[in-house]
Amino acid sequence: MKDHESLPPIAIRRGAGAWLEDHDGKRYLDAISSWWTNLFGHANPHISAAVAAQARQLEHVMLAGFTHEPAVLLAERLCALAPPGLTRCFYADNGSAAIEVALKMSFHYWQNCGQPGKQRFLTLSNAYHGETLGALSVGDVPLYRQVYDPLLLRVLTVPSPDAYERAAGSSPAEHAQRQFALMEAALAQHAHELAAVIVEPLVQCAGGMRMYDPHYLTLLRAACDRHQVHLIADEIAVGFGRTGTLFACEQAAITPDFLCLSKGLTGGYLPLSVVLTGEQVYAAFYDEYRSLRAFLHSHSYTGNPLACAAALATLDIFGREPVLERNRVLAARMAARSAPLADHQHVAELRQCGMILAIETVREKASRTPWPWEERRGLRAHRHALQRGVLLRPLGGVIYCMPPYVLSDAECDLMIEVAAECVEIISAP
Ligand SMILES: *Cc1c(COP(=O)(O)O)cnc(C)c1O
Repeated sequence: MKDHESLPPIAIRRGAGAWLEDHDGKRYLDAISSWWTNLFGHANPHISAAVAAQARQLEHVMLAGFTHEPAVLLAERLCALAPPGLTRCFYADNGSAAIEVALKMSFHYWQNCGQPGKQRFLTLSNAYHGETLGALSVGDVPLYRQVYDPLLLRVLTVPSPDAYERAAGSSPAEHAQRQFALMEAALAQHAHELAAVIVEPLVQCAGGMRMYDPHYLTLLRAACDRHQVHLIADEIAVGFGRTGTLFACEQAAITPDFLCLSKGLTGGYLPLSVVLTGEQVYAAFYDEYRSLRAFLHSHSYTGNPLACAAALATLDIFGREPVLERNRVLAARMAARSAPLADHQHVAELRQCGMILAIETVREKASRTPWPWEERRGLRAHRHALQRGVLLRPLGGVIYCMPPYVLSDAECDLMIEVAAECVEIISAP
């Protein structure tokens, strides 16, 4: 709140396409998709019309003892699009809630299957899965986690396959293979007490847009099967085309036991989340009421019809437009325009995965020494970008672009131009 005395919150009056407009008429190119939620632009005519039509029909009904057309259609369409074997949907109303659902359902599955010792979760270093207590427990970003540590579940944490950490001369795939040995060892030692491993496929977004090779996911899927541990894929940030495929798991040709989706699910319109799972999990809860095996987890706004209508309209756009093909062209343009930044004396790494581009700036390139966090250099860059009419919000020293998919070539070039200026601003003494 004290920060806001010098940087008041910007009151946004309207949005259109990739742009936000404040009450003074100043416009900002939303280069981070309003925290990675927006896919097809603000006030997208098709999605807005779908939400408006749904509001005239039915705004909400509880999803207990009742159902409605948008919830049913959405579940059917998601199951058809998701990796094979994911045939069941459980709705919630935000990303963290989806993580809670997946954790509880995995734990409960093992209880129902006569393996009550399987109670713990294994996570990767630098992971982020949300900020409610369960989700925070399986996260590893100190900024969000540290104070609350005494309240959290005791989880196991294994070093991530983050390709930024690879040895010089080693490829991301080799690094993934090497790091996987640590995962394999942890699984071998702890499988008897583990319910699930949880990962963010391909990109640890909140952890600084750190990326890793899909090979790791292929190895992990096989190992989870071998050790009888669930695999939870948190695609809340990377789902719906962000990494180049509709779901990131596709790049490793795997099906997780639980797939968590939110953020882009509604095109960035409304809070909604869903956990997809398969028949084996479903069957473990299917019984007479009196057996008390059912999964009880409810939120008032679970499966809200307006949010489902926004999600259906979002999937319509994926269905009728060549979104992923167009994104490939746009991603290539982002890569080409930003390429010179790799040589900058304060850029340790320029990396990209589909529609996520990250510029890791450091104090010293050779040793990759980060900036002291107290200097808040990212905030400087954020302020500069705002003045230039672009919304960028670096994570520490990592300047990243994660734009809506409707960016024009000129908007793309402006975004990269201002990101490059931000590298200078961050690096200035
Ligand atoms: C944003 C995010 C979450 C949490 O979603 P909320 O809707 O903000 O609670 C969980 N996991 C990942 C990977 C995310 O990026």
